[in-house]
Amino acid sequence: MPTPAEDLDLKTVRKALQAHRDHTRDRVAALAKRPELGSAQGFGKRIGDGTTEAISRLTEIGVGQSLESTLARTERALSKLDDGSYGTCDACGQPIAPARLHAMPDSVMCLACAASERRGQPPRRR
Ligand SMILES: [Zn+2]
Repeated sequence: MPTPAEDLDLKTVRKALQAHRDHTRDRVAALAKRPELGSAQGFGKRIGDGTTEAISRLTEIGVGQSLESTLARTERALSKLDDGSYGTCDACGQPIAPARLHAMPDSVMCLACAASERRGQPPRRR
């Protein structure tokens, strides 16, 4: 059975993903070092009761969260390369369109599942 990723140069993909992961990790680390943001674990906390200070932090915390989710997705894509499931949607198990993988090598979900996640409806897990 042909794999959906067979047209991709997986070595190149892996290199690009590793470079992307390292770069993102550096940015997360740099952001986490900022004293006003506290530790990296603070990213997952809910903002408290809306002090002006907290509101002014929202943007930076949002950046941190999106960096962390980028990092998590990149690491997931790398582990999918390792276990041979690269190119298969994490949510529905269908092949991810090669064009999508070419455009976004860190895709771990197909277009439909990624779109439904963006709308705030987590795709159903297998
Ligand atoms: Zn899917």
